[in-house]
Amino acid sequence: MATRSYQQFIGGRFVEGSGSGSIERRSPATGDLVARYRDGTPEDVDLAVEAARIAFEEGPWPRMSGMERAEVLNRLADLIRTNRDRLVRIEVEEVGKPVRFARGDIDGAAGLTRYAASLAMQMAGLTYTNIGDGKTALISREAVGVVALVTPWNFPALILSQKVPFALAAGCTVVLKPSEFTSGSAFEIAALAAEAGVPAGAFNVVSGYGATAGDHLTGHPGIDFVSFTGSTRTGSRVVGNTSRHLVKSSVELGGKSANIVFADADLEAAADGALMGVFFNNGECCVSGSRLFVQSSIADDFIAKVIARSRKMKVGDPFDDDTDIGALIDHNHLAKVAGFVKSGVEDGAELVLGGSVTTKAAGHFHEATIFDRVEPHMTIFREEIFGPVLSVTRFDAVDDAVRLANDTAYGLSNYIWSKNIDTVLTVAKRLKSGWVQANTIIDGAPQLPLTGVKGSGFGYEMGQAGFEEFTQLKTLLIQTGPRAPVFPV
Ligand code: NDP
Repeated sequence: MATRSYQQFIGGRFVEGSGSGSIERRSPATGDLVARYRDGTPEDVDLAVEAARIAFEEGPWPRMSGMERAEVLNRLADLIRTNRDRLVRIEVEEVGKPVRFARGDIDGAAGLTRYAASLAMQMAGLTYTNIGDGKTALISREAVGVVALVTPWNFPALILSQKVPFALAAGCTVVLKPSEFTSGSAFEIAALAAEAGVPAGAFNVVSGYGATAGDHLTGHPGIDFVSFTGSTRTGSRVVGNTSRHLVKSSVELGGKSANIVFADADLEAAADGALMGVFFNNGECCVSGSRLFVQSSIADDFIAKVIARSRKMKVGDPFDDDTDIGALIDHNHLAKVAGFVKSGVEDGAELVLGGSVTTKAAGHFHEATIFDRVEPHMTIFREEIFGPVLSVTRFDAVDDAVRLANDTAYGLSNYIWSKNIDTVLTVAKRLKSGWVQANTIIDGAPQLPLTGVKGSGFGYEMGQAGFEEFTQLKTLLIQTGPRAPVFPV
């Protein structure tokens, strides 16, 4: 594929934008120039917000029936499907993720869009007729308005699809700022949305840097709601931006999830789950199970099994179907991951596999890496590494597992492996996270909401709850018949 060049997508078409700068994206696997995006300016953001505002106040989109919006979104899902190969290629080139995971992302994007279409038809409110003689109340659910969406680089098309179709299904209009590293699929999907029948101005994309375009967008007075996915540090800045205008926000942030293996688990499945937990998507995954807790009675054998399987992880060309771990997003991130590995060694954890940056062509690769005997005071136990680096900690009793799992500033997801339903349910109840999975990992469906607690943020993504983030309730109370006077006549 030749180098792709994208202008801004504002008001239903590609436009030059006001700035002269551009952002060059090189493949993290080869160093080849794969895409150029515009370096969006605050003026570009203003234009996009204005286009979205006009589309919301005057355009057909919010006034179309749920059925009509659903038809458009279903057409978009079909177009994502028919353009699957192109979108997969873009994700692999720009993110560096293994191609088989990129295929899952694009199929997931189509599935999310189709689910959102079904919600467009179900948007409904409540009626009360039991609130007093002659009184009726209609509580209607309405689109929240013009929404600003900011997405990260690890699942560009998938996380976009956790937001955009849900917002559109509700009748909102959108301005999206994708990551500076991986903006290609956002422009492609915006163009497909226009082809599917999303009207001009209802879905705008502005590329650019977070500190300029992203910051301006999330603090923009013309926005009614902000949905952000990214790091905890940026998320708290975004909440600061939205609070200036008292704008509602939803922030899906980082994680440091526990993957707890009890002695009575299906240990074959749990071993695969341990690998999935940390190597899926190069470990660049907010819901990674990057802290593995293993019950002491089975620890030696189980950890040996995990190490033996991890030794087979194939690191390299993300376009190779056999590759398990592709290239990390850029050299700064690779250096950050390597820094965490160094700190693990210095803190006294036992490095039992990998530990090195691999020297492959011009790419940013890191070996599958495992530390055993990791303790809570160590940096690798506490910080989100966002790479293929697993921390293993042994525990004795159920209480110890729960205490260790909750000993984190984050609260996004946790995983439990046990055949005992009592263990699964009691531990799940005590884990402080928005998401818990048992005997499976990094699993899901568009119907299931994702949310965080503590440093992992707030608000919902996906599911009915994720859809309702893009709506607000309006209460209309009607007095029919005579109203009794309150003051003397
Ligand atoms: P960042 O927080 O650095 O960036 C996320 C997005 O925010 C990017 O588009 C970025 O733009 C933009 N941004 C940066 N600064 C600002 C700002 N001041 N105002 C508005 N927007 C800004 O995260 P990463 O892209 O590095 O993604 C990795 C992080 O995302 C991890 O911590 C991960 O856990 C989290 N994440 C959470 C998920 C969840 O659902 N909870 C899912 C996936 C990831 P630019 O790229 O130009 O800097």
